[in-house]
Amino acid sequence: MAVIRMWSLLLLALFPALGSTHPLILRATQTPILPGPHMQVWEDAEGSARINEVRALPESAWQPVGRRDASFGYSGSAYWLRLTLQNPEAWAIDWVLLVGNPLLDYLDAYGLDRERVYQAGDQRPFAARWVDHRQLVLPLHLAAGERRELLLRMQTAGSANLSASLMTAADFEHREQRMLLLQGLFFGALAALCLYNLSIHLITRDRNYLWYSLFVASFAGYQFIQLGFALQWLWPQALAWHQLSFPLSSAVATLFGILFTYGVLDLRRCPPFYTWITRLLLGCTLLVMILALIGPYRTALIGSFGLVVVGAILACLFTLLRWRAGFQAARLFAAGWFVLIAASLFSILTGTGLLPYSRLTLHAQQIGALIELAVFSIALAARIRQVQREHQQAQIHLFAKERQLRLEQAKGLDLQKQINEGLETRVKDRTAALEQALGDLSEANRQLSELNRHDGLTGLLNRQSLNEELQRCLARAVRGQRPLALLMMDLDHFKQVNDRHGHLAGDACLRHAAQRMQQSLRGGDLLARFGGEEFVAILCDTDLAGANELAERLRDDLAQHPCPHQPQSIALSLSIGICCSQAGAELDAEELLQRADLALYRAKASGRNRVECYEASALDGA
Ligand code: GH3
Ligand code: MG
Ligand code: MG
Repeated sequence: MAVIRMWSLLLLALFPALGSTHPLILRATQTPILPGPHMQVWEDAEGSARINEVRALPESAWQPVGRRDASFGYSGSAYWLRLTLQNPEAWAIDWVLLVGNPLLDYLDAYGLDRERVYQAGDQRPFAARWVDHRQLVLPLHLAAGERRELLLRMQTAGSANLSASLMTAADFEHREQRMLLLQGLFFGALAALCLYNLSIHLITRDRNYLWYSLFVASFAGYQFIQLGFALQWLWPQALAWHQLSFPLSSAVATLFGILFTYGVLDLRRCPPFYTWITRLLLGCTLLVMILALIGPYRTALIGSFGLVVVGAILACLFTLLRWRAGFQAARLFAAGWFVLIAASLFSILTGTGLLPYSRLTLHAQQIGALIELAVFSIALAARIRQVQREHQQAQIHLFAKERQLRLEQAKGLDLQKQINEGLETRVKDRTAALEQALGDLSEANRQLSELNRHDGLTGLLNRQSLNEELQRCLARAVRGQRPLALLMMDLDHFKQVNDRHGHLAGDACLRHAAQRMQQSLRGGDLLARFGGEEFVAILCDTDLAGANELAERLRDDLAQHPCPHQPQSIALSLSIGICCSQAGAELDAEELLQRADLALYRAKASGRNRVECYEASALDGA
């Protein structure tokens, strides 16, 4: 209040005419006229004075208003305003006193009409208005040269701000059409912004778009109420709701503004004090909303305005801090806040009369808000692009990393494959070598066992093998009830051969005799070297006669074929003893050998180079 008074005095000092009590001359050429400086005011702090008491007030009680918009702040007092008008023309004129603040609770006007008192305001049903209009429109009919004194009484729980202007009825009509078009454009633009961002939210699921569209919607609602459209069209009877809807809509707009700013500046990822302050602000907003619903109206109203101011300053500050921290999208937001703050400043300066009243200044706040909201929308898109770019870069980085990992994995697999292949080849080689070695070993074993079975000099079965074979043949003969014969053969006077021709010649003779005997035997017969120059032949399925015949053939063959030797071949002769096991007889190997040996002994004794058969009686006799 002190500030307002100071401004009034300042303006009075600058424009002395403003304070005069002279009537305001209504000239059609000067329309519109701001009547504020032509008014006088008397403040009724209790709000109980009646019209007669006011009319009876001494002249000194009246104070000049001075301010163009006749604004008196939030005192709650009733303000009586006096204005004298004069029609200078020689004809009747129709003027309109337009009260630009549709949120005034009560406005009474005396002197508009001879019979009626104008009683309206947003705490009276909308139908009480003389003119069906969102603002308070007071029609004035002045006869030719008429001078009329108007007395206005305004009382409101909000800002006692008359914002009055005077204009001809025709001018009012004309302005009104243009104004409705502009307001339509304003709300149309807000609706477009709201729907556009809402649809983007529905597509992208980015919550910032939702906060922003709700912010725009609640701001539009706030403007709709403030400009008087809401009472005119939405709730012309709901006076209590209308009263609280104004601070409520302001707080709701602030709430979404905070949520939007918090999200869009990415404050969640910033130092925690951003979040703490935001939470504090949100808490205050909720408090103001509760106050608007249940608490005293004036407190809620002042609270909601305070919240807007603090919120805007903090949002601006946060934006600048984020800008300084390198958050690119913050630049556009800063521009948006700057426009809003400049527009508000413009509007305040116009209200206080420091700036000339014009269409631009009158709607500075609305225009500023529109620009700000459009800039925010662009900034939102820019921010989304920045986030998308960061996302893309992160994705590219991720792809590169993945590719590198895949390459390394492929290399690893390659290496493993190589190792496996190498291992496989080595294992294969080793296995082949091992198999070869095993084959060689078994061959060697076979050869070894073969060697073990045979005599090294003659290649015939050795003594050990003879025993085994003899056992087997005997068993088979017994099983098959077949005869079996055994020849025991000894080279005659072999010692002399050695002595005469040497041991090497003796060896050659042994090989020669073995070969000759082998040639004469049948496929199934077996020949073994029994000792030095002694041989044994096993004749399966052979009886004594057959054995005798074969023995004779062997003896004869050797006698016929001396061993070839240089300088002369060596004659050899053979003594043979025969023993035969008859079919069904059960003789063992040792007995057979012994008996054949006895028969051989007899052949030796009988003069050598002969065959003798074992005969039990003959031998016993010998
Ligand atoms: P007999 O007619 O009574 O059998 O007379 P012998 O000389 O053949 O018999 P003796 O048992 O007296 O001599 C056998 C000789 O055979 C003695 C030995 O030097 C010779 N002898 C034994 N084994 C071998 C051999 O592997 N190589 C050679 N060269 N001589 C052998
Ligand atoms: Mg001998
Ligand atoms: Mg001999």
